[in-house]
Amino acid sequence: MIISPELRKMVSYKPGKPISEAKREFGLEKVIKLASNENPLGVSPLALKAIEQALTEQNLYPDPTHYELISALSSAWKISRECISIGNGSDELIDLLTRIMCEPGESMVTSQAAFAAYSVSAQANRVKTVFVPQTPDFRFDLGAIANKVENDSQSKIKIVFIANPNNPTGTYNSRNEVESFLSRIGGREDVLIVFDEAYVEFVRASDYSPAQNYLQKYPNLAVLRTFSKVYGMAGLRVGALLASPELVEIYNRVRKPFNCNSLAQVAATAAIKDQQFIEASRILTWKGLDYFYAKLEELGLPFYHSQGNFVMFDTLRDARVVYDALLRKGIIMRPLVNYGFPTHLRLSVGLMEENQAAMTALEQVLQQIPLGK
Ligand SMILES: *Cc1c(COP(=O)(O)O)cnc(C)c1O
Repeated sequence: MIISPELRKMVSYKPGKPISEAKREFGLEKVIKLASNENPLGVSPLALKAIEQALTEQNLYPDPTHYELISALSSAWKISRECISIGNGSDELIDLLTRIMCEPGESMVTSQAAFAAYSVSAQANRVKTVFVPQTPDFRFDLGAIANKVENDSQSKIKIVFIANPNNPTGTYNSRNEVESFLSRIGGREDVLIVFDEAYVEFVRASDYSPAQNYLQKYPNLAVLRTFSKVYGMAGLRVGALLASPELVEIYNRVRKPFNCNSLAQVAATAAIKDQQFIEASRILTWKGLDYFYAKLEELGLPFYHSQGNFVMFDTLRDARVVYDALLRKGIIMRPLVNYGFPTHLRLSVGLMEENQAAMTALEQVLQQIPLGK
């Protein structure tokens, strides 16, 4: 078959190893997965109840307008209904925003070491990715990205993806950085700026400012939120788009009418109101991170403080070897070779006993693997 050369070259997104696969491969009975930033507390009890009640209505198509869910988000996030739409996870929003903004051959800009889904979606849409180097402390270099947009007319840049906080680094951009970035390229007609805020609920940094604050001022700004992280619904696939009414309207034309199934819709509508669950998830995450920081320091492994529910650390060794040895002990972490970090691993916060098991296994494994790449 003759297939587009871009698709022939395309490298698909590499998700964390599922528990069932690790069990099968290594004959393990117990496996702890701390590889995909999932919520270890499970699904909110209110969401579970809503799902149970909706089970008997699964002969009916879902609401294509997501009416109840959008009402709930509108009041929880204090933003008007016409500025909200829903995706099949943020994944779908990333993909369709890229398709909406770019003709094949035009460009998306992001940072090196940004969430990999952006460049995967670009490739699938025959859109080029322009990678701007990160800062030496592993953050998005917003100044350099604005320079790129302003000065590189050859690439035909139509969309910019900023993950704030970023995955896998856990780093963030401050209010000042975001505001001066937007003062430069906010308001342009030709470029959409997307802030992906999948981890916004976990941020502890006091100089962080969610991009939702700037939606009114800059019509070329879009914000992505997800139900996969703090809301514990990664399996249900719900993401939210916050943007200008104009962009929301276009997105609603392009997306499939039934992109969010009815169980996911009722679950998200309930989960957004479950303050107790959200608060418990945040507190568990922060305790887990502080525990990891203390242990990594004891082990002498460099790491960056994270505003997400995970931490990226330097094993000071070939991370694939460390990853494999951990797998054999029933601990799944995330290698970051394809992000350009051959000695680093990313570790998600789990329940406290899972965090402890991970650190015990890591300590044992490191003793058997020599330092160096
Ligand atoms: C986990 C994550 C998401 C969530 O993706 P979904 O498709 O909503 O599950 C989005 N962006 C980043 C940066 C993430 O790490």
